[in-house]
Amino acid sequence: MVEIKNGEALEAMRDAGRVVARCLAAARETAAVGVSLIELDKAAHDVIRQAGATSPFLNYHPSFAPTPFPAVICASVNDAIVHGIPDDYVLRDGDLVSIDCGATLNGWTGDAATSFIVGTPRPADLLLIETAEKALAAGIAAAVAGARIGDISHAIGSVGRAGRYGIPSGFGGHGIGREMHEDPHVPNEGRPGRGFRLKPGLALAIEPMLMAGGGDAFRVGPDGWALRTTDGSRAAHVEHSVAITDAGPRILTLP
Ligand code: MG
Ligand code: MG
Repeated sequence: MVEIKNGEALEAMRDAGRVVARCLAAARETAAVGVSLIELDKAAHDVIRQAGATSPFLNYHPSFAPTPFPAVICASVNDAIVHGIPDDYVLRDGDLVSIDCGATLNGWTGDAATSFIVGTPRPADLLLIETAEKALAAGIAAAVAGARIGDISHAIGSVGRAGRYGIPSGFGGHGIGREMHEDPHVPNEGRPGRGFRLKPGLALAIEPMLMAGGGDAFRVGPDGWALRTTDGSRAAHVEHSVAITDAGPRILTLP
């Protein structure tokens, strides 16, 4: 179902989005060489509790997964693209970390993700993250009333392919509102002028995922959750929840 939100609902989504931004900042500030992924999850969970929010990630159990998700963040390190379960892995110098987090506040949800390097960065990793951020910015810029989902997909895919990066097909963004995952699906590659028409009040999570190796293949790890590259190359994932408004795209998950 696609729900068109009124102004009041979008303000409530903005409040939820601010909580998400604070969670990501807390996880990022906690991340350092020698720190475990569980500690990043704890930092984000503290923010959610203090805000009086709840986590749409915790115990989320989609049909593809063997077990409910056990944490409030996804922590995907190096060759993990998305859906990494934060475990006792201890961060090392140069690790590329993608953190994805959601929060539900007063019945409305936000969803966002960020990628960054712990310790000493490799130039290739910085370029991968920068390109994912450019793809996100291009996708957001295309999220205007009267355009179509395919325009967002094409904008994201064009930036990713220009960088010769791989894009895992079948995964992408989504409608968001009362639930974390609503219609429509927002593919990370597509044809302009195609698909669902964008209207003011529609809210979308836009989330490019890029793989450094250039191939599009990926595999699901042994836990049934984490998506990993098949060539061992690194991946980046960035995301914002965005509303289509008469005044243009409004990012709901900024600090
Ligand atoms: Mg997300
Ligand atoms: Mg999402």
